[in-house]
Amino acid sequence: MEETHRFETRTIHAGQDPDPETGAVMTPIFANSTYEQDAPGDHRGYEYSRTGNPTRTALEENLASLENASYGRCFSSGMGSINTVLNTLESGDHVVTGNDVYGGTHRLFTQVYEDYDLEFTFVDMTDIDAIEAAFRPETELLWLETPTNPLMSIVDIEAAAEIAHDHDAICAVDNTFATPYLQRPLDLGADVVSHSLTKYLGGHSDVVGGALLTNDADLDEQFGFHQNAVGATPGPFDAFLVLRGTKTLPVRMDRHCENARQIATWLDDHHDVDRVYYPGLDSHPGHELASRQMDDFGGMLSFELDATLAEASDVVSNTEVFTLAESLGGVESLIEQPAPMTHAAVPREERVAAGLTDGLIRVSVGIEHVDDLIADLDQAIESTL
Ligand code: PLP
Repeated sequence: MEETHRFETRTIHAGQDPDPETGAVMTPIFANSTYEQDAPGDHRGYEYSRTGNPTRTALEENLASLENASYGRCFSSGMGSINTVLNTLESGDHVVTGNDVYGGTHRLFTQVYEDYDLEFTFVDMTDIDAIEAAFRPETELLWLETPTNPLMSIVDIEAAAEIAHDHDAICAVDNTFATPYLQRPLDLGADVVSHSLTKYLGGHSDVVGGALLTNDADLDEQFGFHQNAVGATPGPFDAFLVLRGTKTLPVRMDRHCENARQIATWLDDHHDVDRVYYPGLDSHPGHELASRQMDDFGGMLSFELDATLAEASDVVSNTEVFTLAESLGGVESLIEQPAPMTHAAVPREERVAAGLTDGLIRVSVGIEHVDDLIADLDQAIESTL
């Protein structure tokens, strides 16, 4: 696949040639744990499937192409990929990260790696001076997400990566919410991109996976070592499902973005809605930066109802097209209430101070007909408030 081919062409073809043995157009599911050797050590590229598997290789090459990366490694979950970046650090190292990173990332940092003597500073990543001020001589990693969850804050990747490099640290970006179709952090100076493939790249809420993409051969070698040594690798069936998902990423994302834009605009005018968090709205504080750094604004949005915790719970329980569930990025629309669900572990005072009010609702806008989605939200709000 030529690097000059456009994104939509590479989603379908990068890493995937018809099978040379059979001509099968789609990459086969290589359901093997082990591979024949002609003589000890003389093999045809594969020895054992934890170390490498052809279906996984196709996915790794496909994702690397989409992120404009030279190297890709896949893992059994998004957490598996984040963990692998942390595996490259040593005790005594310091990490600067966002105060609103994904809860699982926060848990991994504070409940696993603090016990191994890594230190973390959590800052408001929309404040570039705060990022700079958090760096120490022993800072080795800047870990960021943009847009963030659930308030869709936008972090300036280019400026953040520059600060990391000034301090000889690496900058890693969790690009799960935006996907490479909308945002390519390596082009903006980041050193590593991490994905939960469970979300938009898989796209159908039927697989869990993760990936790391980079242009740095040394980092890739370390990721490959830990991929094999730790063993959090995806099986060939999971790799196949994600490969099937990436082929339709652009058409799905276009619909996710268009539906989200229309729903955000409708909510913005709704008399029971106090505030809408969608970077595509002019009123969003990150709108101008998102317009520069992203190709569109994505399918995730949150809104604050003028409602109590119990009333907002009733609204999310009363939808019929939207499914009440955590996670995001599938073709189906999901709705959730951060306070008692994804952010239940955050003490109320801290949660409200961070803008996560009792009436806050987050939606992952799917690709159904937008009129049905708006009508569903309307009836759920009107029947409750
Ligand atoms: N990163 C982000 C932004 C996420 O939202 C999630 C999961 O919700 C993860 C990483 C973790 O991915 P996984 O659930 O595939 O382990």
